[in-house]
Amino acid sequence: MAQDDDARAAGANFLRTIVAEDNALRTYGGRVVTRFPPEPNGYLHFGHAKSIVLNFGLAAENAGTCHLRFDDTNPLKEDVEYEDSIAESVRWLGYDWGAHRYHASDYYDALYAFAEWFIEQGLAYVDSQSPDELRRTRGTLTEPGIAGPWRDRSVAENLDLLRRMRAGEFADGTHVLRLRIDLASPNINMRDPVIYRIRHARHHRTGDKWCIYPLYDYTHCISDALERVTHSICTLEFQDHRPLYDWIIERLAEGGKLARPLPHQYEFARLNLTYAVLSKRKLLRLVDEGHVDGWDDPRMPTLVGARRRGYTASGFRAFNERIGVSKSDSWIDMSVLEDAMRDDLNASAARRLAVLDPVRLVVDNYPDGQSEDMSVPNHPQKPELGRRMLPFTRELWIERDDFSETPPKGYFRLSPGAEVRLRYAYIVRCTGVEKDAEGRVAVVHCSYDAATRSGTAGADARKVKGNIHWLSTAHAVPAEVRLYDRLFRVPFPGARDGGMPEGETTGAADPLPAHAANAAVDDEAADERDFLDDLNPDSKRIIRAYVEPSLALATSEEHIQFERHGYFVADSGDHAPEHPVFNRTVTLRDSWAKPSR
Ligand code: ATP
Ligand code: MG
Repeated sequence: MAQDDDARAAGANFLRTIVAEDNALRTYGGRVVTRFPPEPNGYLHFGHAKSIVLNFGLAAENAGTCHLRFDDTNPLKEDVEYEDSIAESVRWLGYDWGAHRYHASDYYDALYAFAEWFIEQGLAYVDSQSPDELRRTRGTLTEPGIAGPWRDRSVAENLDLLRRMRAGEFADGTHVLRLRIDLASPNINMRDPVIYRIRHARHHRTGDKWCIYPLYDYTHCISDALERVTHSICTLEFQDHRPLYDWIIERLAEGGKLARPLPHQYEFARLNLTYAVLSKRKLLRLVDEGHVDGWDDPRMPTLVGARRRGYTASGFRAFNERIGVSKSDSWIDMSVLEDAMRDDLNASAARRLAVLDPVRLVVDNYPDGQSEDMSVPNHPQKPELGRRMLPFTRELWIERDDFSETPPKGYFRLSPGAEVRLRYAYIVRCTGVEKDAEGRVAVVHCSYDAATRSGTAGADARKVKGNIHWLSTAHAVPAEVRLYDRLFRVPFPGARDGGMPEGETTGAADPLPAHAANAAVDDEAADERDFLDDLNPDSKRIIRAYVEPSLALATSEEHIQFERHGYFVADSGDHAPEHPVFNRTVTLRDSWAKPSR
C-alpha cells in the first residue's frame, strides 16, 4: 500500500507550515481565514471529515475563522435537507462557523456584475456553439482547442447577448459565456472556460430570479476572495484548476474589483479508506437499493452513520491528526480509524457488564433467595469515575463460550472440574452440566468458595487463570444488541482480484456546460466489478442479550464498554428504558487483523 507512513507517524501537515510561514511573513497581516465548501447534494462522509478537521482546525489553531459555505451553484441537485444535515455534522465534529455561514448563491449579483466587466475588458464572450461543438472544439491533451465562430464578437453584442440570456430569452444549451484566455493552453482548464450557462431551473434559495448559473471554477475563487479567505484548501484534483483560479481573481484585483491580498489555493490528498466507499454516487446506491437502513445506518461511512455507530467527534479529530495531511494520494487502512475510536472510547467510556450469548450458571451451594451487592469499578484505570453495586445471586447468566465441556489446550474458563473467578465476585468450580433435548448445554452447575470474595483478604489466597463476567438472572435486563461490522469484506470494494484501485477521485469542474459544475465524474471503469458484490454479509447481526439493570437508564448516545466485548452506544433512534438497544461501535481488538479472516 502506498501509505505515507512517516508522515502519518508524525501526523505531518504541510499546510500548518504554510500558514505559519504566512503568519511570520505577515502575508495576510496575521489573518487566517479558511472555508469548508460542501455542495449541498448529499450527506457528509469520512472524507469530508478530513477536510472539516483540516480547515476548522487550522483556523482554530491560528485564532482565525473558518467559513461554512454551501457551494450551491447547481440548482438541479440541491436540497435544504442536505444543508441542515451538513451543518449539524460540522457542529457535531466540534466546530463553529460563528456568523460565517454563506452560500455561493449569495454572490450571484456580484458574479454577474463581474461577468459584464470581463466582457467590457474583452476578456469574455458569448459562444453560441452547441454543447457538442463546444466539446469538439475544446481539443485534447495533445491538440489545442479551435476558435469557434463567435470568439470575436464585439463587446456590445456580447453584453446584449448576456443580458438577454439573463432575461430568459434563450433555451438551455443555446449560449454560454466563456472567458477569453488561451485556446492553445496545454492546460485544458485555461482554454476559454465556460463561466455561465443557461439553466431554466428554480434554485432553492434564489427561486426564479436566475436562469443563468455560474460554474464552479468561476464561482469558487471569487467567493473566496469576497469572503477574504486566506488559504483555500481543496483536494488534489483541483491542482490543474489553480491557474484559472489565480487568473480570474488576479484580473479582478487589477481592475480594482477585488481587494488584495488575494486568497491562495492549496491542494492536499483526499482521504481514501479501505473497506469503505466514499463517493456520493456509491453511497447513494447503497441507500437507494436498500443495502443499508438509510443514510444514518451505523455501517455507512457518513458522519450521521458514524454518530449512530458510536464513533466520536474526538476520535475523528485524533484520526485526522494521526494520518496527517500530505500531497500524495494514499490509502488509509480502516483499522487506523477503528483504533482511533478505540483509544478515544477507552479513555472515556464507562465499563458495564453484558452477556451477549447467555447460558445459565447455577451456584448450587449459594443460598436460594440471597443477594449480595458486589462493588464494581466503573473504569479500572480511573478510580475517580467511582464504583457501582451489582447484585450477585444463585442463578447467573454467563457467556456460552465461557464454558467448554471438552476444553481445548490453553482454555482457562469454565469446564468440568475447573475453577474460574466470576469477575468482582467469587471463585467457582464447575460441577456439572445439563443439556436440552438437542444436546445443547442448557445449565452449567458450580459451587462457590465463600472465602474468595473479591476485595477481601481471601480473594488472592488462590490464583485462578480464568476470569469471566456474569449477571444475576433475577436482575439482568433484556436488551437488543446490534453487532455491526465492516460494510465490505475486502479492502478495495469493486476492485479486480482484490487489487488496489485508483483513489476515488471526484470529478473536478468540467469546463463545459454539458456537466454540472464539479459533479462527480463516472469514476467506475467499464470493466470494474460492482462494488456491491463485495458487501460483507455479516455486517449486521441483531441479538437478544442481557445487560446490567442500570443500562436500561442509559441515555441516548451514551458510550459504554461492555467488558470483554467492545464499545457500544445506546442507539439514538430506538433505545428506550423499556426496550434498551445498543449498537456495537468497535470490538476491543482488531479482529480483522487475524490471518484466519
Ligand atoms: P461532489 O463534488 O461530487 O459533489 P465532493 O466529495 O467533492 O463531491 P463536496 O461537497 O464538493 O463533495 O466536498 C466538500 C469539500 O470536501 C471539498 O472541499 C472537498 O474537496 C472535500 N472532500 C470531499 N471528499 C473528500 C475526501 N475523500 N477527502 C478529503 N476531502 C474531501
Ligand atoms: Mg466537490
